Amino acid sequence: MLRLPKFEVAEPSTVDEAVALLAQHGDRARPMAGGTDLMPNMKHEIETPEVVVGLWRIDAMRTLEERGPDVHIGALWSLHDLQGHPLIRREFPSLVEAVSQVAGPQLRRMGTIGGNVCLDTRCVYINQSHFWRQALGFCLKKDGTVCHVVAGGRNCVAAASNDSAPVLMTLGARLRLESSSGTRELSVEEFYHQDGIFNQSRRRDEILTEIIVPKSKPGTISAYKKLRTRAAIDFPELGVAVLAVLDGGGRASHLDVCVTALASRPIRVGKLEPHYQGRVLDDAVIEAIAEAARVRCKPLKNIATEPSYRREMVKVYVKRALQAALSRRLHALG
Ligand SMILES: Cc1cc2nc3c(=O)[nH]c(=O)nc-3n(C[C@H](O)[C@H](O)[C@H](O)COP(=O)(O)OP(=O)(O)OC[C@H]3O[C@@H](n4cnc5c(N)ncnc54)[C@H](O)[C@@H]3O)c2cc1C
Ligand code: SF4
Repeated sequence: MLRLPKFEVAEPSTVDEAVALLAQHGDRARPMAGGTDLMPNMKHEIETPEVVVGLWRIDAMRTLEERGPDVHIGALWSLHDLQGHPLIRREFPSLVEAVSQVAGPQLRRMGTIGGNVCLDTRCVYINQSHFWRQALGFCLKKDGTVCHVVAGGRNCVAAASNDSAPVLMTLGARLRLESSSGTRELSVEEFYHQDGIFNQSRRRDEILTEIIVPKSKPGTISAYKKLRTRAAIDFPELGVAVLAVLDGGGRASHLDVCVTALASRPIRVGKLEPHYQGRVLDDAVIEAIAEAARVRCKPLKNIATEPSYRREMVKVYVKRALQAALSRRLHALG
């Protein structure tokens, strides 16, 4: 059995108190929401905070409301509660699909949307016990000097594995970060960067307090599809989020395809316009979009499933996601 190392717990009841604690303790502290990712990482000694700043008493981070053109979602909403919320179900079906496929039911009750957005990256060589990692001489992400995925590599390429991230990217969400030095908002695109050691632009003294999602434009369709070994619990081996805007005749004026679990950040698949712009998304168009996505995605051996298989699955899952989004539209049109 893996034991938790000793640490102190602070339980602030306001955002101001929480960010003051993070500023005071610096890199010795970590914020914790549901703890479903941080706790296992502490048992594995991947994270070794001396002070855990528990966010669970901060009621101001549990609000959810429409404000003008946006929906503001407090970062402490559990994945379970979010997936059942009528406003989220009506406005953001792809987000419901993503959060309802995170882990299993118990973890979705404890796990929060903020913790999901801020989830640490994963790799077959890091999500192991300290003893296991020591036997291999550790690695760049923690305690070591080499990468076991990319021989001679100088950067960690551990995989972004949060299901909500690619969906929030397609939805054009913004993330509100607060610290003792002020507040700022980043797009999801800006929030993540390509560094498996810490793939976020969030400073360690900042907390994510709110996710701001623009309400859907008329004609918007979206879906999320996830590849995983055990549908009841596993992290994504591939996650594909799609969002398209169609005119009354079904022609696409906008299409976004974002993938996760292939690299250290969720990735927007670029240069798809020639395949869809002004076209009806019929089988041939969907085939061309899916093939273009497959060509542009190059998975690494950072998780257990074969990269070549995952690359082929990009095409399959882009197709499935687009078909699911379209069938939802047909259903809505009656
Ligand atoms: C068996 C198992 C299977 C899992 N499967 C999946 C899966 O399929 N898909 C998936 O996406 N996740 C999965 N997870 C991971 C996790 O359960 C979820 O991502 C969950 O949403 C994390 O939320 P949390 O509130 O528990 O985060 P925590 O564990 O509390 O925090 C996660 C990280 O975010 C930071 N953090 C948390 N909240 C904030 C905040 N408001 N501001 C700033 N930083 C913050 C913490 O410091 C920590 O680094 C799995 C976990 C387990 C144990
Ligand atoms: S990608 Fe390389 S450096 Fe990063 S966790 Fe895996 S083995 Fe370690």
